[in-house]
Amino acid sequence: SDIALYHAKGQGKNHFAYYQEHMTEPAQARIRMEADLRGALDRGELELYYQPQVETRTATVVGAEALLRWNHPELGLVPPMRFIPVAEEMNIIDELGKWTISQACKQLKEFHGKKLKLPIVTVNISALQFKMGLVNTVSQCLRETGVAASQLQLEFQEGVAMKDLGESIRILNGLKEVGVTLCIDNFGTGYSPLGYLNNFPLDAIKVDRSYLVKSLENEKDANLVAAIIDIARNMKLGLLAEGVETIEQYQFLNRQGVHLMQGYLFSAPVSAAELEAMLAPWHFMEFLRQLSNHLGN
Ligand code: C2E
Ligand code: MG
Ligand code: MG
Repeated sequence: SDIALYHAKGQGKNHFAYYQEHMTEPAQARIRMEADLRGALDRGELELYYQPQVETRTATVVGAEALLRWNHPELGLVPPMRFIPVAEEMNIIDELGKWTISQACKQLKEFHGKKLKLPIVTVNISALQFKMGLVNTVSQCLRETGVAASQLQLEFQEGVAMKDLGESIRILNGLKEVGVTLCIDNFGTGYSPLGYLNNFPLDAIKVDRSYLVKSLENEKDANLVAAIIDIARNMKLGLLAEGVETIEQYQFLNRQGVHLMQGYLFSAPVSAAELEAMLAPWHFMEFLRQLSNHLGN
């Protein structure tokens, strides 16, 4: 694991000697990671990967989710689940989050400058970024990059806004006033009372991958996904299925009338340069045509 590697690489370096004597191994690894992460942004080690979101009837890329990566000089690509919680504890998540929003907007501008079609870029927002200041950060990034608000989407986890409902609604309304679209990420996994769907000014939900996987294992879970889809329809929310990996999952979603998909079946998250090829209008057309021939419809 990279924690073990952090420990190993820390061996023998003088400034770690104290910690080696007095602390447990994970603590040393953590200290090293914090030290490295502090300068990562300035050293240009952070990068956004992008995963296309595909409208499967028209084979068009309707958006791309920006996913943060840390190119560590020794560890290689560190996944966000490893360092975002650390960044949150170090109180640098605001700075990191602002860079992410700004970078995603700059990238969108660059694609558009090359006449590549990408209607929306969607950015993940961590719970600790979710405060009044986010509204200013977002409008500043849009102003500085010249991206239209309607081209930026923000993704939140359900639990994020549950702590202080009144304040959360003010933040979300503030973001809506700026004009960005709002989406609930990993819908159904946050142990949140469903009433929030009425209280928050939302545009879309993303069905979590775990529901999709289970839906092919038994009928009960399939019914649950169908019910989630109904909720979205009845509440006039957009719906995207994430983590679509298999043809069977694609087929199931197709039967359910879900046509917005994101997942390894289409593409893993890739660098901006690699995404460019997928923004050609015909890129997913042939794949989807073959898929539909294969399925006999
Ligand atoms: P998420 O927003 O739910 O993103 C989806 C995750 O599932 C991504 O992992 C993506 O690479 C992965 N994924 C996509 N398609 C498939 C698939 O078909 N099968 C499977 N098994 N996985 C798939 P990743 O990039 O490691 O990101 C993990 C989480 O880290 C994200 O979950 C998001 O919550 C968080 N994250 C990523 N970037 C940022 C960021 O810039 N800011 C914040 N605050 N959080 C971020
Ligand atoms: Mg997300
Ligand atoms: Mg998700």
